[in-house]
Amino acid sequence: MTKKARLFLGFVFIVNLISVKAFSQDGLSISIVDAAEKLNAQLVYEPLSKTVMLTKNNHSLQFRAEEKIMLVDYKTVVEIEPPQLIRGTVYVSSSLVRTATDIFTVKNPVGHYKIGAILIDPGHGGKDAGAIGKHTVNKKKVEYYEKDINLRTSQMLYDKLRAEYPDKFIKMTRTSDIYLSLEQRVEIADSIPLEDEEAILYISIHVNSAFDKKATGFEVWYLSQGYRRKLLDEDDVGDEEHLLPILNSMLEEEFTNESIMIAKFILDGMDAQVSGQSPNRGMKEEEWFVVRNANMPSVLVELGFISNKEEAQLLGDDKYLDKLATGIHNGLVSFITLFEKSVAPGGMAE
Ligand SMILES: [Zn+2]
Repeated sequence: MTKKARLFLGFVFIVNLISVKAFSQDGLSISIVDAAEKLNAQLVYEPLSKTVMLTKNNHSLQFRAEEKIMLVDYKTVVEIEPPQLIRGTVYVSSSLVRTATDIFTVKNPVGHYKIGAILIDPGHGGKDAGAIGKHTVNKKKVEYYEKDINLRTSQMLYDKLRAEYPDKFIKMTRTSDIYLSLEQRVEIADSIPLEDEEAILYISIHVNSAFDKKATGFEVWYLSQGYRRKLLDEDDVGDEEHLLPILNSMLEEEFTNESIMIAKFILDGMDAQVSGQSPNRGMKEEEWFVVRNANMPSVLVELGFISNKEEAQLLGDDKYLDKLATGIHNGLVSFITLFEKSVAPGGMAE
């Protein structure tokens, strides 16, 4: 894939926390990291758009630094004291934390959506080998093909997800060594049947290659933009029409935020499986053709570098690929659980 994308700058909760005294009308405000901890909510911060998303009990709150509105559950607008951005950290007022507490206390009976299907896309195939690693191992010349590693890992991931979710529609774009154009992959994605309120997760599996033969590690790319869910119109906001542009730009962030969460969970899952064997290169942002037309939160996993001799040998070993597939599976399960846990009767929501 092309690397035109910016490097993702990192989440607030992994950025160093600077102690800053910030004051709001109702007293000392607190950083969103502390607020999320206090609320026991999941936090995602997208520094480029300064958008914060807090989720808990099937509720979602979205707001931005310096903006006086908060979007609740993707549809209701609440006026808030504008959060402040101080040295790269967003601070919110105590009243916002109280409002969030009230909203989170009552579990939202209907999930924002349910994951109805997961589409696994092994990159390349057939005449398109993807990256090729040529190395001399034990005095023998060995060739490693990205398309094969992608397919092996995808198949393992498919089996694990089928076992985990017998009721979900799990599909692979290819199950053998065939060539698929990008358009064909998009067509497969768009042809998956979905009920209302159901979404597809799209996960593409690739292997990296670099001129620098020392480069190693796995990384996850997430889709940056290009999605458009049903946007709000005047009926949704009454006489607050002037708020429409900002609200709609927050909604456009929605799938980005979800893709970021999936990416983070997958990275954590892989890290837990192969730390010590391969470094975690983190999260990257990209717009890809293959998912640009598909209406779904999407991530692309780069399993490792085929251009590095040691890592190529790992990627040629089914036991190692199984660890990676397990890590990806565990990450997806964490994400799906977070989004669906309070939907099921007797679910595990706090
Ligand atoms: Zn590739």
